[in-house]
Amino acid sequence: MPVSLTFYDGTGCIGGNKILLEDEGIGLFLDFGTNFGAEGLFFDEFLRPRATFGLADLLVLNILPPLKGLYRSDLEYPGLWEKYSAHPWFREVEIRGILLSHAHFDHCGYLTYLRPDVPVLTSLTTALATKALQDTSSSQVELCYITPRELKDGLLRATDYRSVPHQQRPFWVPGESIPEEAHGFWEKAVTSRRLCSQPLKACSSEAELGPFRVRLFPVDHSIPGAGAFAVKTSAGWVVYTGDLRLHGKQAHLTRQFMQEAARLKPKVLICEGTHPEVERPVHEQEVAANCFEVVKKAEGLVIADFGPRNVERLLSFLEIAGETERLLTLTPKDIYLLEALRAAGEPGIPDPMTDQRVALYVRPKALRKPWEEELIARFGERAPERLIDAARVKFAPQDFILCFSYYDFHALLDIEPEGGTYIYSSSEAYDEEMLMDHERVRNWINFFGFRLYGTLGRDRERSGFHASGHIHGPGIEELVETVKPEVLIPVHTENREFFRRFEGICRVVWPERGRALAVE
Ligand SMILES: [Zn+2]
Repeated sequence: MPVSLTFYDGTGCIGGNKILLEDEGIGLFLDFGTNFGAEGLFFDEFLRPRATFGLADLLVLNILPPLKGLYRSDLEYPGLWEKYSAHPWFREVEIRGILLSHAHFDHCGYLTYLRPDVPVLTSLTTALATKALQDTSSSQVELCYITPRELKDGLLRATDYRSVPHQQRPFWVPGESIPEEAHGFWEKAVTSRRLCSQPLKACSSEAELGPFRVRLFPVDHSIPGAGAFAVKTSAGWVVYTGDLRLHGKQAHLTRQFMQEAARLKPKVLICEGTHPEVERPVHEQEVAANCFEVVKKAEGLVIADFGPRNVERLLSFLEIAGETERLLTLTPKDIYLLEALRAAGEPGIPDPMTDQRVALYVRPKALRKPWEEELIARFGERAPERLIDAARVKFAPQDFILCFSYYDFHALLDIEPEGGTYIYSSSEAYDEEMLMDHERVRNWINFFGFRLYGTLGRDRERSGFHASGHIHGPGIEELVETVKPEVLIPVHTENREFFRRFEGICRVVWPERGRALAVE
């Protein structure tokens, strides 16, 4: 089997894509994401996999595949692999690269565990967005740089921060050159541990990784920088959609990708199928129009609750803020992400320091991380009048749109709003745990007397206050009929029935988790 695909995750479930493509024994991974569903079967926010046990907890639970040669050696217990030598998936692999489609955790989250010398090929925007995620994260994610561990008293502990630097992963980005600001952002250390930086490498638009040629196509998704990949193997082109859609403001990118992928006459199309049941998706422009109508009529405070890193939605609210003469008030994490996107040269991203519509909300905190401290100080120097605290909001609530979600609700205890408008502009609850979270959000909304727009609970996209990041049924049909692969492999989906319709056009294959499929 010279060329093969092995799906370690992302089959028959949404998210957690980890797809191994091999040619003559040399491999590439297409994404290496967190499978929240599988993790959630065993863990929650209070019970986490133990960092001091490295890979062990996730290997025991079969959440990470037992592949020798793939992971960080500092996370491997001595003798770890002997334990797995009889596992049906166990083998040694030689990985030349990770193709990262976008900066959502269900695609990038488990990069944390991978060898730090394997290049990650992605867009410049995704590279800097993942750096921003890690810089501002409070949990242990090591997407772009790792904190080396050492075995001490039987536990894998972080090395001394004074003597051992963070080690940065090599990221490759297709393009002729990389702007100075992007290098600056990428190589900036944000903790007291030094960063042993690894400059971003500009690579050719058809990058060479081992025996493979890799092309990256920008596509439309709910986070900027998302891409699809085409990989040339000795058996032909393998195309991978990542996550994409045809109803955002960048839909033309997805269509362009479809045309270019068709020209490659691909052997295989690995296609996402999160929402094939949706016939007519709500467009981002409709969401913006609906939100504008609500804010225009609102009298007191407005809270806009949209998913973290949904930058397109943030930009929609920025325009609304301008037109309704309110200040779009963001958290330090949001501002930091905007700065990352600007450094990547992402078009249309405002400069939070100079854009008169943007404010920064500062919460009282006993201790701040250095990145946050530095950001607030810099903002306070450049735009002191737009550095906002609870007292300012309480005094003139009608001047603000607060971009808050559940984890920012401590601020409501300081502001003590008396009514207002709450726009829930994020995804529906898709499991029991989320339903409970939504109940809690509803309790806060009711307690402070907000009027709610958008739907909490289960009601996919009917509210008109949220547009999904994923392609709808007719969009998938357009994609498959345009690209015309020989073999179609649906991933990131729970809907088998839908994909049956393509059986006349191509061979539809449902991969079995962990079993290699020959590409021939
Ligand atoms: Zn995504």
